[in-house]
Amino acid sequence: MAFEYLLPQTHLLFGEGVLSRLGEEVKKIGKHALLVTGKKSMQSLGFLDEAIKSMEKEKIKVTHYGKVEPNPTVDIVDEGARVALQEGCDVIVGMGGGSAMDTAKAIAVVAGHSKKSPCSIWDFSVTQDTPKPITKDTLPIVAITSTSGTGSHVTKYAVITNSKTMEKPGFGSEHIYPLLSIVDLNIVKNMSPELTARTGFDTLAHVLEAFVSKRSNPISDEYCLKAIELVYKYLPIAYQEGNNMQARFYMALADTYAGWAITTVSTALPHGMAHPVSGHYPNIDHGVALAALSPGIMEFNIDNGDEKTIYKYCKIAEVMGKSVNEYNRENARKSVQAVWELLEKINLKVKLGELGVNKNEISAMTKNVFRTMRKNVNFNPVPASEKDVEEIYQRCF
Ligand code: NDP
Ligand code: MN
Repeated sequence: MAFEYLLPQTHLLFGEGVLSRLGEEVKKIGKHALLVTGKKSMQSLGFLDEAIKSMEKEKIKVTHYGKVEPNPTVDIVDEGARVALQEGCDVIVGMGGGSAMDTAKAIAVVAGHSKKSPCSIWDFSVTQDTPKPITKDTLPIVAITSTSGTGSHVTKYAVITNSKTMEKPGFGSEHIYPLLSIVDLNIVKNMSPELTARTGFDTLAHVLEAFVSKRSNPISDEYCLKAIELVYKYLPIAYQEGNNMQARFYMALADTYAGWAITTVSTALPHGMAHPVSGHYPNIDHGVALAALSPGIMEFNIDNGDEKTIYKYCKIAEVMGKSVNEYNRENARKSVQAVWELLEKINLKVKLGELGVNKNEISAMTKNVFRTMRKNVNFNPVPASEKDVEEIYQRCF
């Protein structure tokens, strides 16, 4: 069996209190940082101050850009890039959840490429007839994660929403791997139970999708199985006891493994269908959209999957503690049951209707899947037509 695996060039700092090393490490990369955050959490928890002080101590100039909102938009990215250019920033540091880290990555792309000719992040989108290529002109990126969910601190992806077209494509390039990645458990332990649940389910979705993906490979498979096992065991504990550092440690580790898996394998149909949901309904969180869709898509894959797919869902059931004496379709369904049980434990059993999705949007969201997320459809272990995707959306109401 032949396969390809790109090893990211990311220096990972992982543990309690590692944020204190930010300055000494950023000093090796640049002199003036644009520090990108959301509007509130990092400020109120004191981590914004800590990050600024750590960099200023090393004589790094810091410009703060704190305008990111969940499901970050093209406008906020382009504006951030203008700030970076005006201020002369030479490194972009994202601190927060996937939204802040993805915005930082996208700003690094736009600011870097705008030095030659002004551009917008949308010029690089797969929705363009000829998307502008992301090159080494991208500014260096540092990612400090505050959630255990997206894996963005170790992936080559950024996900940005165009609020005019309601499209939410991923932007992928080896030039947007963070050079430095910080996972400080003292930051992630502040997540509320709800945020822990939503982001933790995102991690699970990454590995459930990558494990069965047509692009899976022996290295990503190891990350996936371990991460599924860890999330299944530790997410309910992190949800119940936010200060349980063992649970926070293993969730952050699972998030990182999942990032390393999807960065070469990509995600599949659940992410392909979840992005248009958040694109059409920006108030619907990424992890919540995935919780509403994932079990239904797993059922579709198991109903129609070949022998290899059935085997893989049986392995998933096994690492989620189900007894599987034989690899067959019936036992594969135990993986869906295990996911339902986990969702129950973390209070995230949701349906699209309850989230405010209107059935009239199904057709538009389906077109959006095939326009912006076609690769995800292609990587799904079972080919899905537009009609299948519509039916799966229906099934999840
Ligand atoms: P967000 O970054 O959207 O953050 C959600 C909310 O949580 C914000 O209101 C934020 O507040 C708050 N918050 C973040 N961290 C903490 C903390 N430690 N304590 C308290 N509150 C906190 O959430 P996610 O991490 O789930 O990121 C989701 C985004 O990432 C989506 O757009 C998704 O599509 C994308 N994504 C990217 C991937 C990639 O590979 N690049 C992969 C998968 C998803 P505030 O804004 O005030 O900081
Ligand atoms: Mn995700």
